[in-house]
Amino acid sequence: MTNKYSDCFYCGGKVVERLLPREIRLENKLLIVENVPMGVCVQCGEKVLKPEVAESIDRIIREKKKPAKTISVPVYSF
Ligand SMILES: [Zn+2]
Repeated sequence: MTNKYSDCFYCGGKVVERLLPREIRLENKLLIVENVPMGVCVQCGEKVLKPEVAESIDRIIREKKKPAKTISVPVYSF
């Protein structure tokens, strides 16, 4: 797996890899996968997910592994 990302699609800025939590909504449930390697544009903050990373996230969810932890998420109505 390479750590290289192409320049930002939107602003042409440099994209660096960060480990970030990724929120996934699945059948009205909110799941969070932590420490997902994502490209983040240093200029505009646009996030880029590599196809293989997206696949790994899908696999984690499909396998329905026991989560590392469970947190409750407050939801506000605007
Ligand atoms: Zn950008």
